[in-house]
Amino acid sequence: MNEVTIFRTTAWSPGPGCHGGCGLELYVKDGRLVKVEGDDEHPYNRGRLCPRALALTQYVYHPDRFLYPMKRVGERGEGKFERISWDQALDMVEERFSKIKDTYGAEAVIFAQGTGRDIGGPISFLCYSFGSPNWVQLGLAGHSCYTPRLAAMMFTHGDYAVLDAGQFVPEGMDDPEYEPPEVIVVWAQNPAAGCQDGFYGHWVSDCMKKGSKLVVIDPRWTWFSSRAEKFLQLRPGTDAALALGMLNVIISEGLYDKDFVDTWCLGFEELAARAAEYPLERVSQITWVPAEDIAEAARLYAKAKPAAIQWGVPIDMGPSGTTIAQAIAHLWSITGNLDVPGGQVIARAAFDVTTYPFSTQELHSLYGEEFVKRMNEKRIGAAEFKLLKNFRGWGQPDRAVEQMLSGDPYPIKACWIQTTNMLGGQAADTKMHYQALLNMDFNVVVDCFPNPTTMAVADLILPAASIAEKESLRSWWSPLQVMMSAVTVGECRSDWEINLELAKRFNPELRKRFDTVKDLIDDRLKPSGYTFDELKDGHWKFPEKDTPTRPYRRYEKGLLRPDKKPGFRTPSGKIELYSTSFEEFDMDPLPFFTEPPESEVRTPQLAEKYPLVMVTGRRSPVYFHSEHRQIPWLRECDPDPTVEIHPQTAQELGISEGEWVVIHNERGRIKRKARVTPIVHPRVVSVPHGWWLPETQGTEPNLYGIWDINCNILVNIGPGDDSGYGGGPYKTALVAVKKLSQGEE
Ligand code: SF4
Repeated sequence: MNEVTIFRTTAWSPGPGCHGGCGLELYVKDGRLVKVEGDDEHPYNRGRLCPRALALTQYVYHPDRFLYPMKRVGERGEGKFERISWDQALDMVEERFSKIKDTYGAEAVIFAQGTGRDIGGPISFLCYSFGSPNWVQLGLAGHSCYTPRLAAMMFTHGDYAVLDAGQFVPEGMDDPEYEPPEVIVVWAQNPAAGCQDGFYGHWVSDCMKKGSKLVVIDPRWTWFSSRAEKFLQLRPGTDAALALGMLNVIISEGLYDKDFVDTWCLGFEELAARAAEYPLERVSQITWVPAEDIAEAARLYAKAKPAAIQWGVPIDMGPSGTTIAQAIAHLWSITGNLDVPGGQVIARAAFDVTTYPFSTQELHSLYGEEFVKRMNEKRIGAAEFKLLKNFRGWGQPDRAVEQMLSGDPYPIKACWIQTTNMLGGQAADTKMHYQALLNMDFNVVVDCFPNPTTMAVADLILPAASIAEKESLRSWWSPLQVMMSAVTVGECRSDWEINLELAKRFNPELRKRFDTVKDLIDDRLKPSGYTFDELKDGHWKFPEKDTPTRPYRRYEKGLLRPDKKPGFRTPSGKIELYSTSFEEFDMDPLPFFTEPPESEVRTPQLAEKYPLVMVTGRRSPVYFHSEHRQIPWLRECDPDPTVEIHPQTAQELGISEGEWVVIHNERGRIKRKARVTPIVHPRVVSVPHGWWLPETQGTEPNLYGIWDINCNILVNIGPGDDSGYGGGPYKTALVAVKKLSQGEE
């Protein structure tokens, strides 16, 4: 009888949409994946596993999967593709991209990704090896997924910070160094339903079991809000006002940590003056939250020692994501909750290993300032947005789609689309992105499955490997670990393999350095002192105590700054409550509130016509953005594209539970199935994103039904302000809802 082999690996990769880092056990028999379980010993998930990973066998062997490279032989959208070899496919990319480069310059090719995981590295590696500055999260208006928060934190205290759930120490919550937060503020997130970046949602409930009390801030009730000491049901898009109101309470009532502020913070007086502009009556009016509730929430948080905030992506999607994040970061800064056990712990990639240099600092060290300067001269949006130019090597996504259509200031002729389904997923103003991609001479799609994007615009399809089929690394954040290939499926190749092979063709120098993917991974692993082979089979590693990538109180020990002095990695060495960097980038150095672009206040006439605020993007425990709609076990759990609508609103509109309705505004109309529920505010509707119907016709004009049900048709592009980040109104578009008229179903 053939034996079962168990591969111990980790999850941080597309296919399926893993964004965390769970330990997986892949059971393989006769060369086939037969079962997936959570790894009991893994410090991240400790044996638990989400439905997406439990259904991995259905994902890996799904009959729709791309198994071979294919080139388009019919018209775009006809769905006619022909199998070709990998050599033919890579030759085609090399030839077409090189021709465009010779004629228009390398910048005429955009390298697009969706959300990050381990592929950000291989994509930027390919993009820079080709010589294009335009590595872009195309479709993600205002870069509104984590980047605004990352930027705000980076320029406030020089590092990212996350709720400390013991994830940075080997024994987790049982580690002698750790203590749980007394109070957790869950801000704009349903932690148990999603797969947030590097953070396992159930850690919040683990902390609750250890005594943590909750304050929940969200427009929508969740499992967590129903168990909170205080639930603030705020108006979507008003988070900055709420944070400033809380800062005002904490400062005016003397609840901040005076010693910490005096020693480690810069600009407290200026922040106090700004917060004073947000008295509770004003904040209550803006946010719809009673003044006393705001005051009580602020007191609960500030009086607890330690306290922590777990926040979600709606922060980035606010009209001005960076400043909202800045305001919230100041809450943990002035209460002294940074890099302490159970507070907001500074999150660095273990051993400083990253999949590829994302930051400008890293790019400088790898390529030299001249290269970065050259890239910034042509990078889309870099001249306009100084923050963008000085933070990460991304092009600005809203300007990118505009330029793909206008050719101004230079033409864009091709798009490399890697494991991102922007037309079925994140792209605000879906039709604009559809037109922009059709405007390209050549589109290459790397993906696991057909979806609206591949079907509508692909000229060449390269089949991507899933987590079970790839070698890769997980470096966001601790522990450091690698992914192992357990099975092969068709001719699928990993993102790393595809991109390395092409990168070598565009930059033959790389042939001398990287023969195989393992060579490239080992190169990235160098700062850790470990190799791929030493980390495989579940040999994850935590950094040692008193090193820069392991907490706590590193600012006191000189472990955060390059010059090894105590303090933070900011220009002043202090936490910049008044950001000298933002000032340099012509931005407001202090946090502020701006009214969403459409609202009862800013556009009252529009609000009369479209009286409901549409919140998109609430997470489903069985899906990751637009992934998994074709996986039977998962679809059974969450079968329909719905709209959540309050019973009172439904009654006024004559809408019943389960009825199909139309949601519309000036930009278009979609259909959804009504879910009548008191968990949303009467003036808000919640419309989950990422919906397409793989069971329907994939070819034009249907494209799996996206023009009927994709909520991003109702959302316009950003960016919201002069940071270039935040502002796609994914959470604040105004809409009206009505019953379907006869014959419309
Ligand atoms: S989707 Fe997230 S929660 Fe599920 S296995 Fe992957 S990392 Fe873990």
